This record gives sequence, structure tokens and C-alpha cells, in this order.
Amino acid sequence: MDRPPLGPAEIVVDLAAIRANARLLGATAGVPLIAVVKADGYGHGMLASARAARQGGADWLATATVEEALALRADGVDGPLLCWINGPRSDLAAAAGAGIDLTASSVAHLETMAAAFAGRERPARVQLKVDTGLSRSGAPRADWADLFARARAGEEAGSWRITGLWSHFACADEPGHPANDRQERCFRDALDLAAEHGLRPELRHLANSAATILRPSSRFDAVRCGIALYGLDPAPGEATDIGLVPAMTVTAPLLMVKDLVPGDAVSYGQHWVAEERTTVGLVPVGYGDGIPRHATRPGAADRAATVGVAGRRRPLRGTVCMDQVVVDLGGDRPPVGSEVVVLGPPGAGGPTAQDWAEACDTINYEIVTRIGGRMARRYV
Ligand code: PLP
Repeated sequence: MDRPPLGPAEIVVDLAAIRANARLLGATAGVPLIAVVKADGYGHGMLASARAARQGGADWLATATVEEALALRADGVDGPLLCWINGPRSDLAAAAGAGIDLTASSVAHLETMAAAFAGRERPARVQLKVDTGLSRSGAPRADWADLFARARAGEEAGSWRITGLWSHFACADEPGHPANDRQERCFRDALDLAAEHGLRPELRHLANSAATILRPSSRFDAVRCGIALYGLDPAPGEATDIGLVPAMTVTAPLLMVKDLVPGDAVSYGQHWVAEERTTVGLVPVGYGDGIPRHATRPGAADRAATVGVAGRRRPLRGTVCMDQVVVDLGGDRPPVGSEVVVLGPPGAGGPTAQDWAEACDTINYEIVTRIGGRMARRYV
């Protein structure tokens, strides 16, 4: 367990699933796996996920921020580790000293790094990121020549070694989207131009989970997988079934059962009103634990999120509160203390992360990454 329980609900993380998923992704890709463990391992626990991914054969780990990467090092995680976000308070010198690959997306980033690395005896490890169509981080095409020239000059000065060159897809979950071809072509242009500037990055990478599975041409020297590592589908509706196993289950005890008669209204705003006699149960999870309040928005009762009670899926009723939700038991009276499956793999008796995502008009990534709050987290 890595978090003290501050409430009765529990997140159970199946580390064997993460190990198996890492193995599967590595075998599918046929190139080294960079296991993405940012944002607390997408809600699964960063440190435990990182260790499990390594045990499953992940050659590399990646976090978003320098601070996350340094936290992994502080917890004793060694080996190749990439990060891509740093801010004015980030300790770049410490990261370089810890052998972390930092990412530069602009000449300005490289200048900041050159200043931070001054006095180091050994060159730091730096990867370059190019923007191929996401318009997020990464150097836009117009800046590539300057970026590569400055990067090469820094290599010659001994400030750093350019260990990688990479980019990120915008639409990998839509394999037929024309942006994918455009981005891959653009990435190849960047690699050519980098070579013309004398750069020889050993790790060229572009693919996230969806592209790793759906777009073999984008695998290059490594793939960066996050969501698939945790067993969730990176592109629902596409041919992504390679046998991934979801790693997260969330359970809570049923705290109370009560009767409703027609006209009884449930929860804040009284948006849901019983039309017939029923029973409802109280479950101690809410938006304070990462359950989206949007899950039971007024007017979308037909798409309300569900939970699993005694093996049956039951709809949530009324507004999701900070600490509790109300579930419609349809006249049944399961014993107080019964286990409620709030989220889990298919077959666990409750909704999957994808079911929640569909009920909430979002993606499975957001569902699992938000889960937490007061819940204990237990690893099995
Ligand atoms: N690479 C970068 C830069 C990312 O931001 C992410 C996640 O958002 C990933 C890789 C992993 O993506 P996915 O979880 O879709 O595999």
C-alpha cells in the first residue's frame, strides 16, 4: 500500500497486469519500450508502475516533468529515464547529474540548459523534440535549423550529447486520419535535417500507445506507451485488441440502503426524482475521490454511469457529491457492507474505465488519472 486510507474506498492495482502489458507492448513493437509513468502512473502509482514496467522489460521510463523524474531517482529507480517538461524552478543540473534525459524544444531551452550545465565534467543527456502537427511543445519546422545548429554546437562544446529526437502524434487514435501520414513524413524530414547538421541521435521516437499498435511504420527506435501499459484501450473501436489487461480496480463498501417512493428526489439540486418505488444505496466515493461530477449530469439520466453491486450493474442517481454517490438498487436490498465495484476490468462486475469515459463524454485516460483523493491504493 502506498497511500494511507482516508476513506473506505480502495484502488487495487494489479502489478502483474502492468508487467504483462509491458511485455506485450515490447513484443508488439519489436523495439524498446519507453513506459510512460507520468501523472502518478496515470493514477496507478508512479513508483510501483515504473518498477512493474521495468520488470516487464521496459528499457526506458518517461515522465512529463523533471520533478517526476527526480522523484523516481530519489526512490531508487535507475536506468534510462526521459522527461519533457521543465519550468523555471526545475533543477536541470540535478536532473543531468542523475542521468535523466531532458528534452529541449527550442534554442531558448538549450540556452537555459547550457547555463545550468556549466561546470559539469560530463556532457548531459538531451533529447530534441520537434513539432510535427500537434502544435504543443516541440520546435516548429521553421525553427529546426537553428535548434539543430545550436544542439550540435553544444555537443562540440561538451555541454551535452543529443541522445534522442522525437515528436508526438495528434490523432493516433484515429488511424485513418490524414494528420498521421503528414506527421510521420514531417518527422522523417526532421531526422534528415538533423543528420545534415551532424546530429546522430540514437533514439528516434514518435509512437504513443495507439500508434504502437496501429501504425508499425511509426515505431522507429522506440515507442512511448502510457495508457496501454495500464491495460486500457488507446483507440476504442479500432483494431487494438492485443490482449492488454486493465490494471486498476476500485471498490467501496455499500454504506446504507433506503426506500424511495414516487416523487422522492435524490441529491443536490434534486435533479433525479423517483418515478416508482425503489431502493437506493449509498457508496462512499465522490468527486473528492476523482469520480466525475459530470457522470450524472441533469438531462443525461439515460447515460448515467453505473457501478456494480452484488454482480449487477446499477445506475447512479442524482448529482455526484464530494464524498458519496447514490445508486439505484431497483428494489433490492443487498446487505450493508456489500462490495461495490466502482471501476474494474471487464468481468469484474462493474463498469470499465471506458464505460465511465462514455458516460462522462471523456476518454479513459482522464477517468483513471483522476481517481485517487482519499482512496487507499493497494498493490497485488
Ligand atoms: N508521449 C507524450 C509526449 C505524451 O504526452 C504521452 C501521453 O499523453 C505519451 C507519450 C503516452 O501516450 P499514450 O498514453 O497515448 O500511450
